[in-house]
Amino acid sequence: MSITQDQRNQVCQRANYACEFCGVTETDAGGQLTIDHFQPRSKGGDDSLDNLLYSCVRCNLYKQDYWPASNDAPVLWNPRHEPAARHFLTLDDGQLLPLTTVGEFTIRRLRLNRAPLVTYRQSRRKQAETSRLLTEYRDLVSLLTQLNAQLAVLTRQQQQLLVTQRELLRLLLGIKEE
Ligand SMILES: [Zn+2]
Repeated sequence: MSITQDQRNQVCQRANYACEFCGVTETDAGGQLTIDHFQPRSKGGDDSLDNLLYSCVRCNLYKQDYWPASNDAPVLWNPRHEPAARHFLTLDDGQLLPLTTVGEFTIRRLRLNRAPLVTYRQSRRKQAETSRLLTEYRDLVSLLTQLNAQLAVLTRQQQQLLVTQRELLRLLLGIKEE
């Protein structure tokens, strides 16, 4: 039985329209990505939602129909079952560093340090940094606006105090002169 349109939609939405292995989105790829069977159909995998992953063409191509042939064969990271942070660390230069043997095998098999992906991670990092700085800048501007408003109130109060002080002085001097 092939995957229904409904299943396909559920898989895309669940993955937030991004490759579950490398994070490239439909927008980045300029089109829909592919549906991957984590356990390939040829190796006994079924069409249940738990076995379906949204994957970019490249990751799918490199993964092919990999499935461990024995108990001690290397295992691929299953993005549906474990967060990426358990197996990988993203370095500042955009490279993925494996934290586990699963991470190491997945990086090698899916070529997750392929040059365009490293560049992609770098540019996403820069975008995130830019948007963080912009938010910080906007917060500072709004704080400055608030401070200016408070300063205006304080200045008005100070002027009133000076007026009152002058009146008091005049009164005291007047009293002494009498
Ligand atoms: Zn991918």
